[in-house]
Amino acid sequence: MIRHDVIRAVTGTTRLFGCIAFPTDHVRAPMIFNKIFTERDIDAVMVPVNIAAEHLAEGINCLKAIDNFKGAAVTIPHKLNCATLCDELGPGARAAAAVNAVRFTDDGHLLGDNFDGHGFVAGLLGENPTNMPREHILHDKSVLIVGAGGAARAIALSLAEQPVARVDVTNRTHRRAQEAVQLVHNISSGADVFAIEATDIDFQHYDIVINATPLGLHEDDDMPFDPELLRPDCLVCDIIMIPERTRLITAAQHSGRSVHIGRYMLDYQVELIGEFIGAYEKSDV
Ligand code: NAP
Repeated sequence: MIRHDVIRAVTGTTRLFGCIAFPTDHVRAPMIFNKIFTERDIDAVMVPVNIAAEHLAEGINCLKAIDNFKGAAVTIPHKLNCATLCDELGPGARAAAAVNAVRFTDDGHLLGDNFDGHGFVAGLLGENPTNMPREHILHDKSVLIVGAGGAARAIALSLAEQPVARVDVTNRTHRRAQEAVQLVHNISSGADVFAIEATDIDFQHYDIVINATPLGLHEDDDMPFDPELLRPDCLVCDIIMIPERTRLITAAQHSGRSVHIGRYMLDYQVELIGEFIGAYEKSDV
């Protein structure tokens, strides 16, 4: 359970960080970051910033005017619109066309980036659900990403930076899979990332398959693909966080396949987001 009694004293020198969302009642970032600020004795606080979509631009401008407001985590429904308000986007945000963190610079600029992809890769390597050494998990592997939305695009870019053999992206709407691959190539030209039509998939080909669609959020959802089609040694990943064990993960596990759950993708982003928004330096960690 998350403790709520650990917030450090707020003083006249405290730096402010936000978690921009609408509504904010479900957000976890303030609890996570305030606990870190207390544990590391950092004079900062993160507050929920509840802004309706139609007021986002106005709200961001107001935050820019506050000297000690330094940055924010950004979540549903603002990830895409907030990206369009940024003066500069990092590679993860350019691939995803969406931000999940923004930083206000001293000269009034808004910088945005998206750490979903790094979070996924760091989580996979950090948790190592396989029985192979960590450095072999992605080495020379063929990966299939199912879905081509913001999260899938960020993951495709981050995987392309790893020593994988290839990354295929497949999606209900094939045009969006092609767009996703184009975005990755714009940032990382020559990356071995390809769009593949659903009808052309040979599931036996893949070492790792990732669900990056919302299929699995609800109990009665279809599975995004049948894990029985995969090789027995295929690693099955789902990026859905709640439920922690989706139907896909449960079915894959029952059939003896290794699995990797969605929670780690967020857990492993916290340090990266904190550093990006300026909440703490790498050396604070
Ligand atoms: P998004 O931008 O809306 O993209 C959703 C993708 O899923 C699209 O490619 C869409 O296909 C596809 N899709 C949606 N419904 C589908 C269905 N019924 N059948 C087949 N394909 C379907 O969403 P996102 O931001 O990428 O997020 C995707 C999921 O990842 C969400 O469920 C979210 O909970 C999860 N997520 C997890 C983390 C984490 O830290 N673990 C972070 C971000 C997101 P079309 O293009 O055809 O519409």
